Amino acid sequence: MNVSGHFTGGDGTRAVRAGLPEPVKYEPTLPGPVFAAHFHLPGEPTGPYTYGRDENPTWTHLEAAIGELEAPGQDGVETLVFASGMAAISSVLFSQLRAGDVVVLPSDGYQVLPLVRAQLEAYGVEVRTAPTGGDAQLDVLDGAKLLWIESPSNPGLDVCDIRRLVEAAHARGALVAVDNTLATPLGQRPLELGADFSVASGTKQLTGHGDVLLGYVTGRAGEPMTAVRRWRKIVGAIPGPMEAWLAHRSIATLQLRVERQNATALLVAEALRQRPEVTGLRYPGLPGDPSHKVAAQQMRRFGCVVSFTLPTRARADRFLEALRLVDDATSFGGVRSTAERRGRWGGDAVPEGFVRLSVGAEDPEDLLADLLRALDESAD
Ligand SMILES: *Cc1c(COP(=O)(O)O)cnc(C)c1O
Repeated sequence: MNVSGHFTGGDGTRAVRAGLPEPVKYEPTLPGPVFAAHFHLPGEPTGPYTYGRDENPTWTHLEAAIGELEAPGQDGVETLVFASGMAAISSVLFSQLRAGDVVVLPSDGYQVLPLVRAQLEAYGVEVRTAPTGGDAQLDVLDGAKLLWIESPSNPGLDVCDIRRLVEAAHARGALVAVDNTLATPLGQRPLELGADFSVASGTKQLTGHGDVLLGYVTGRAGEPMTAVRRWRKIVGAIPGPMEAWLAHRSIATLQLRVERQNATALLVAEALRQRPEVTGLRYPGLPGDPSHKVAAQQMRRFGCVVSFTLPTRARADRFLEALRLVDDATSFGGVRSTAERRGRWGGDAVPEGFVRLSVGAEDPEDLLADLLRALDESAD
């Protein structure tokens, strides 16, 4: 079914071909979305396709594509797609943890994790947290069943040494999941760094057009992944065929988008570094960034998100208002640049003037000019 699975060439070639089935005369290269609640199933009810909550051929192609990017050339790796990143995250946590288990989460991770924490605690799971930076999660690992890493963290862009944390967790018998949303599989491959699960929101740069919610889990085939699959079936947190197909179509341009957006993000970070009103500038690809050394060891590309702080909330609001090429919007990773004052949500421990900027695919000189003009115009 999947002829490109063991292709080991460049990322661009792999992205363009990812998950495509063997060509069939008079059929499209990427088969269209299969809309089916159930499949014809006479006799014994065995797969591959029985009921639409359990399997769908459009997911199969997309899962193959993501697997080829997350774990190129690795056998025995399975990918499951979900309705959203949170569906994927919850499916790993709630399928692996029982009352009395201990889980270690990042204290500076995605803003919904505190809600997840409360739910886990309501089910009798002990939750410990520690910051991503400085590998601080190492200090609270004893007795843990699962370690949850988010590197780079969102929105603070801290990075931890994934391999080091994986070794420490495995030595204690704990499984490790890495939220790979910000890096994308072209930026970082958690399974190669030893993790058991790479989990991500496909809503962000993976699909990159701001029109799809999606999530996935990639992991080595075995009991933990079987439990994740069972959880998807139980909660029914499945992507629609149209979303799955759109995601697959978008992955063909992943390498192009990532190259362009990430290169511009570095230029933007370098330009912002020159500005006196900008403090707390973070971009893991920026030499001199506190995360750069560790990031350079384990990441192949550093993402499209730059974060920084302007002196006041009012200044940040005026800056966002003055931008013409950057939409004031949440989320990140899209081809159109977006930025927001993160403190408006109340969930992250960030200063009032903290801005998370997601660099899009516009011409770098246009974007830089817009950002610098907006900084000038928003000055007191
Ligand atoms: C957006 C995001 C999620 C959640 O993904 P959804 O698709 O919105 O459910 C999880 N982790 C990180 C790091 C994210 O940025």
